[in-house]
Amino acid sequence: MRYWAWFVAKLAVAAVGLGGLVRLVVGLFPSDKDPRAPLNDGMRYLLCNFALLLCFLLFAGVLYLIVWDQRYRCRVCLRRLRMPISTGSWGRILQFGRPRTEYICTYGHGTLSEDDLQISGLSGAEWTPHSDDIWTELCAPGRESDRP
Ligand SMILES: [Zn+2]
Repeated sequence: MRYWAWFVAKLAVAAVGLGGLVRLVVGLFPSDKDPRAPLNDGMRYLLCNFALLLCFLLFAGVLYLIVWDQRYRCRVCLRRLRMPISTGSWGRILQFGRPRTEYICTYGHGTLSEDDLQISGLSGAEWTPHSDDIWTELCAPGRESDRP
């Protein structure tokens, strides 16, 4: 819930900021009052369209950055995920698995695992939450090997 609230908050701040930019562009290029010759000042229309194109590109870039930043945040504490590690092998996929990159939360909340190999389109990253008791996960492999 907190994860999505942070995402919506970032979108709202971007919408307010970029909405102000659009209002500025609209203020710089007021609508034409003469209905008989709507294109009598073609250069003004061209500049207005160019400014709106730049606004659109800025919107798309900001939206991309917001989604990219949100993807690499911890789902619990919202801190940036750290320590990327490559797993798998390009040359030995059948032996070591598909190449992936894993990021972890430094406070142990979870692991984000995303495929480096995109054969059938872009696949979503997989978030694996960790339990609160880190010692249970660390000692679990040892318990299995203690059994006779
Ligand atoms: Zn975390």
